Amino acid sequence: MSSDTPTTPTHHFIRQIVLDDLAAGRHGGRVATRFPPEPNGYLHLGHAKSICLNFGLAAEFGGTTNLRFDDTNPTREDIEYVEAIKADVAWLGFRWARLLHASDYFEVIYRCAEKLIRQGHAYVCDLSADAVREYRGTLTEPGRDSPYRGRGVDENLDLFRRMRAGEFADGSRTLRARIDMASGNINLRDPALYRIRKVPHQNTGDAWCIYPMYDFAHAISDAVEGITHSICTLEFEDHRPLYDWILDRLDLVGDDSLTEPLRAAGLDLPRSRPQQIEFARGNLDYTVMSKRKLIALVEEGHVDGWDDPRMPTLVGARRRGFPPAAIRTFWERAGVTKQNSVIGFDVLEGCVREVLDREAERRFAVLDPLPLVIENLADDHAESIPFPNHPKDPSRGTREVPFSSRLLIERDDFAEVPPKGFHRLVAGGEVRLRGVGIVRCTGVARDAAGRVTGLSATLDPDTRPGQPGAERKVKGTIHWVSARDALTAEVRLYERLFTAPDPDDDAGGGDFRDRIDRDSKRIAVAHVEPAAASADPETVFQFERLGYFVADRHDHRLERPVFNRTVTLRDSFAKAAK
Ligand code: ATP
Ligand code: MG
Repeated sequence: MSSDTPTTPTHHFIRQIVLDDLAAGRHGGRVATRFPPEPNGYLHLGHAKSICLNFGLAAEFGGTTNLRFDDTNPTREDIEYVEAIKADVAWLGFRWARLLHASDYFEVIYRCAEKLIRQGHAYVCDLSADAVREYRGTLTEPGRDSPYRGRGVDENLDLFRRMRAGEFADGSRTLRARIDMASGNINLRDPALYRIRKVPHQNTGDAWCIYPMYDFAHAISDAVEGITHSICTLEFEDHRPLYDWILDRLDLVGDDSLTEPLRAAGLDLPRSRPQQIEFARGNLDYTVMSKRKLIALVEEGHVDGWDDPRMPTLVGARRRGFPPAAIRTFWERAGVTKQNSVIGFDVLEGCVREVLDREAERRFAVLDPLPLVIENLADDHAESIPFPNHPKDPSRGTREVPFSSRLLIERDDFAEVPPKGFHRLVAGGEVRLRGVGIVRCTGVARDAAGRVTGLSATLDPDTRPGQPGAERKVKGTIHWVSARDALTAEVRLYERLFTAPDPDDDAGGGDFRDRIDRDSKRIAVAHVEPAAASADPETVFQFERLGYFVADRHDHRLERPVFNRTVTLRDSFAKAAK
């Protein structure tokens, strides 16, 4: 990929923590991070922030990043998501050191639970989920001890082993940490560590009928794969005392017996005592990113699937033609803080334009055609004109654009009653045809309703490239395609999916569904030069003067070209909103 912006990394508080740790020689000078998605949905632009942060920090300091599936909740997970997440992370441009699963550690996590039981730090509780909630207390009232809190070590070990053996029904018992039912932090009021769930798991099949809770599995997973900096979002801030409580009691670095099952399985991982660090989620305006809402958009048919180009998913951004480098640059510039904030979607689009201006080859396409016949060329005139693929990069070479006496120009580029400052074609006026020369409009044909149906023009031969008058000035330059040679393409013109900057703000009534822009997708026909039609899927072009368009990943064919508009050339949305 040639699209990397050479940037100095933006400094932020997590980078400072890493620098300080390195200076102090903590973690033996290692930097190891992980990206830990739950395989219960597609990744979105918000996840990309975490991916860029984790992979970016490790790369900067010569460290490693693991991709670890936090697959502790078998009921919501699916192998389809696992595969999609791997593809998305790779597409964003990152290579993980190891691909791991929390479920790879189920045996280790189980041993950790037994260790806590033996230490007197965990007990089997028979309260129902409702009763647990009731005993837990509230923010203002302390909780009450479970009647099972006093169980002895032997009884707890026996019951826990029988939970594993499948002797008890789903939900009938849990393993809980014995911490403090009066703690001001509700996460420390004897949180559950294990629950019974007799469902098969996408990675471990039927091997288990008890599954560890997220907080318990997460802390242990970080430690057994040698993570040094466990970066997560702000809502985990008050889970950090539990994270530390778990790791302090287990001593995964010192106690080899806990990780013995991994070595037996040939998984030799470094171990560490990681540090959890929280940062604020990335949010974008005109976007929803909660998984529940994204699933609703797909399942209720508001969009054409997870990879609809209007979706904030990474597969959606990809199908829209957003280059991964633009997403990386965007999050790099957004910075990393502990303050929640919302960034304009236009800022992301700005990054997309910046990368595409540099990367995308230029092509000609006409969206709303008006025929123009050059009268002083033979009707069968045929030539091909070389055009640079990129105006600022001669190394990108040229392509041949067929030119003939019958052209199509944009309807907008002709005006019968020109508004003030209109510099393109008017009846009797002159304009430059890109790469051809200056034409004068000599005739306007209309249908019975008076609508303009075609133009005739003469080409001044003296203004053709290489001729003495080639430099003659006229105010306007327009693009064109040869009517005989152009191919018709389907173009999908996308706008933002939502009409409101905060689609989640229900204050005015309704919900996010009521703020979907039903006109956010329009299908049009474009006439494109042959060198656009023949592109591979996922090639992005600048259709000159129109915007950036990507050959659709799934539907584009030479015989039936399909392009999605990635972004317009300028931020017309912001202007229209003013
Ligand atoms: P849910 O809680 O609905 O499952 P999630 O967004 O937490 O959704 P995960 O799969 O757990 O989904 O996320 C993987 C990682 O991505 C987590 O570390 C999470 O903190 C991070 N992440 C998710 N959304 C964002 C966001 N908007 N900005 C930054 N990081 C995010
Ligand atoms: Mg989550």
